[in-house]
Amino acid sequence: MSTITEQSRADALGRVREEIAAACTQARRAAASVTLIAVSKTFGADAIEPVIAAGQRVFGENRVQEAKAKWPALRAAHPDLGLHLIGPLQSNKAKDAVALFDAIHTIDRPSIAEAVAKEMARQDRRPLLFVEINTGAEPQKAGVLPQDADAFIRSCRETHGLTIAGLMCIPPFEEAPAPHFALTAKIAARNGLKLLSMGMSADFTTAIAFGATHVRVGTAIFGGRAGYGPAGQKKSPDAGLGG
Ligand SMILES: *Cc1c(COP(=O)(O)O)cnc(C)c1O
Repeated sequence: MSTITEQSRADALGRVREEIAAACTQARRAAASVTLIAVSKTFGADAIEPVIAAGQRVFGENRVQEAKAKWPALRAAHPDLGLHLIGPLQSNKAKDAVALFDAIHTIDRPSIAEAVAKEMARQDRRPLLFVEINTGAEPQKAGVLPQDADAFIRSCRETHGLTIAGLMCIPPFEEAPAPHFALTAKIAARNGLKLLSMGMSADFTTAIAFGATHVRVGTAIFGGRAGYGPAGQKKSPDAGLGG
């Protein structure tokens, strides 16, 4: 459905890289302090290969099943790729998620912390873990409420023995993102967490100003997705998401 060509995806990646570098300069940060996660959900290998060829190495997917169908072949062909899970995780998918992903951005409740901890021990794998914060307290969105974040991070560490590397957030679609990035950075700082997964196509430069170490950029690289609303929510006329 997209008119975007292979060359234009490589060009789009180049533009995103330039914007990241400029935002880093403005924030007096090293360009290497920000990891670009190219969010390839809904796109097939034909769209992903040119982006790999253009030098991109870290990719994000929001569904375990989709990633399982798509990535083993790509990873076999390109062993140096990193794959991040950025969408909500269910306990019964923890086994596949731990086997498939190098980072999981969406640890958000005790049952998930427990299931991931168990699989990490069983598989002897250590994906990078982020706790997702629902900064806008949106009922339809995954994530820990800001007021519950400190206790949840503590229980991940003490009850489940997990090393939490950072926090992730998806600001409400219709709000200015800056206060949400600032809140996430503040919760991370007081919990001694160094990594911040925040910023998407519309707001990654703002996120970098607030300390993002991982930006998750889909549309600005791959073009529009069919049948998707904001932030990985399925577009549905009666879902009441306003998107
Ligand atoms: C789809 C998705 C993104 C990428 O969004 P774009 O606006 O296309 O850049 C980032 N984060 C999450 C959690 C997503 O589901």
